[in-house]
Amino acid sequence: MLAYTYIEQGKFELREKPIPEIKDSRDAIVRVTLGSICSSDLHIKHGSVPRAVPGITVGHEMVGVVEKVGADVTAVKPGDRVTVNVETFCGECFFCRRGYVNNCTDPNGGWALGCRIDGGQAEYVRVPYADRGLNRIPDTVSDEQALLVGDVLATGFWAARISEVSEEDTVLIIGAGPTGICTLLCVLLKKPRRIIVCEKSPERARFVRQRYPEVLVTDPKNCKEFVLRNSDHGGADVVLEVAGSEDTFRLAWDCARPNAIVTIVALYDKPQLLPLPDMYGKNLTFKTGGVDGCDCAEILNLIEEGKIDTTPLITHKFPLNEIEEAYRIFENRLDGVIKVAIEGNLIKPVFVLPHTL
Ligand SMILES: [Zn+2]
Ligand SMILES: [Zn+2]
Repeated sequence: MLAYTYIEQGKFELREKPIPEIKDSRDAIVRVTLGSICSSDLHIKHGSVPRAVPGITVGHEMVGVVEKVGADVTAVKPGDRVTVNVETFCGECFFCRRGYVNNCTDPNGGWALGCRIDGGQAEYVRVPYADRGLNRIPDTVSDEQALLVGDVLATGFWAARISEVSEEDTVLIIGAGPTGICTLLCVLLKKPRRIIVCEKSPERARFVRQRYPEVLVTDPKNCKEFVLRNSDHGGADVVLEVAGSEDTFRLAWDCARPNAIVTIVALYDKPQLLPLPDMYGKNLTFKTGGVDGCDCAEILNLIEEGKIDTTPLITHKFPLNEIEEAYRIFENRLDGVIKVAIEGNLIKPVFVLPHTL
């Protein structure tokens, strides 16, 4: 099968690999019908994920159909349409039992797929702990609707949950990339008094204004002043930093009111400065990433009920054999791209039968 592979820093390549086999009785093999490219894939490519293992198939956001299951898998069966969770977790260790699945102590616990073990930018993927890592997609929910459930939408949902948003709050979300918008969708469900999105790209700011007219939009240059003007207690009650750019960490705590919660969702390329003397007396609570992605069933329910719709984020679609082009567009943010979907079926139709036949 074809598998997009991390060769070395700066280099991914589409390679031929054997179809994965069941290695453990709790594994499942999933035929990937739709996958996507995430900015974390680019972090691997650029060397900012040191634990990524050269030679692995990348990709950690996908949906598919279960092909085979190990003897101890009970939650799914061959033929089921499923979302694949970005995180591998045993469900039984100290952290899993508390819902902190990102820190599962299993050797493959946490973000392993497409990082430390073969992922889903391929025709098939082996999913360990399939009972935890796979969720059945309701019949009325399409692959496109479910595509982001296991990763960026799980991240947005988790970020909104741990940020303890209340209906009194002014919430600032920094960054309107795919994860930022997923975070926005999940914060909207909490019905805070105001939501302010800070985004430097005019194209993405326009997307937010058009799609979510109830949301206030500003840019990093004007953000602090804008937040002060549009909040009740000298800053945002809750800040979610989802941009991970040069100055957005500072912007996040700077725009927060005293005693605010500042949730850092972003994955940075470089260390960030925590200038404690400057923030002394602000009494902030910081929460940091990564996602505890254990709410996928609830998220799928919300999609089925029409409360979350991420399909407008999927701006491009390519077959797996054209994944190089998909990366070029995603990496260089060309053509208004937000999310690129990668189709598992490789061959584009060569001809179409005329309707008259
Ligand atoms: Zn990701
Ligand atoms: Zn665990």
